[in-house]
Amino acid sequence: MRMRKKAWTNDMIEARKDCVVAEPEMYKSTWGQFSQNGEVHVEIGCGKGDYWLQMAHQYPESAWIAIEKDRDCAAIALKKSLDNTTSNMKMIIADAKDIGEWFERDEVDVLHLNFSDPWPKKRHTKRRLTHDEFLNVYKRILKKSGKLIMKTDNASLFEYSLVTFIQNDWQLLEVSVDYRRLEHPEDAITEYERHFMEMGQPIYRAVWTYNKEV
Ligand code: SAH
Repeated sequence: MRMRKKAWTNDMIEARKDCVVAEPEMYKSTWGQFSQNGEVHVEIGCGKGDYWLQMAHQYPESAWIAIEKDRDCAAIALKKSLDNTTSNMKMIIADAKDIGEWFERDEVDVLHLNFSDPWPKKRHTKRRLTHDEFLNVYKRILKKSGKLIMKTDNASLFEYSLVTFIQNDWQLLEVSVDYRRLEHPEDAITEYERHFMEMGQPIYRAVWTYNKEV
């Protein structure tokens, strides 16, 4: 069973060579080529790809680069986008800990952290995508006016992240502890998110920037 799944994953990734960027460091400083309006959006941890796919179609003039370290998830995302991929969509299948090697200083307009893994245990703190070590790399690859948008149903991860961003001198541009109380058609809702909304669970969202002039 395990082998079969692995084979399916490998076949799907192979079949989607048009979309998968095997050596992302080769594209460093050139990601704008996939964008018509010059904007480069990067989603870290795209999971099964629902957010990536919807946003890339809603904003087809921008480049949408998805990063996913789990090959099985990445393969599912690639399958979903099979008949629907546009030239603005690219996928990097690797751990985002190396993101600083793939993107140039001042290259990314928006980093999206959509429902990231909460990693609740203290000993896993470093794996959180809003850990200090990630933030240091993010601020380097973001453009001067670049933003990081974080959305989650997890209050503990949200609280941890607010503190970490503040301690690292990021500026908070927007914050909501019940983002879906109002309509936000500009932002895609995935099935996962809809499930939480239907249960009445608030969705937390924050938008951050790092002022490089200071
Ligand atoms: N963003 C998706 C769902 C995210 S689930 C959506 O909105 O639909 C979180 C995903 O992040 C998981 O698939 C996990 O494998 C991935 N992930 C966690 N840490 C990562 C890392 N360091 N690099 C790449 N992907 C990561």
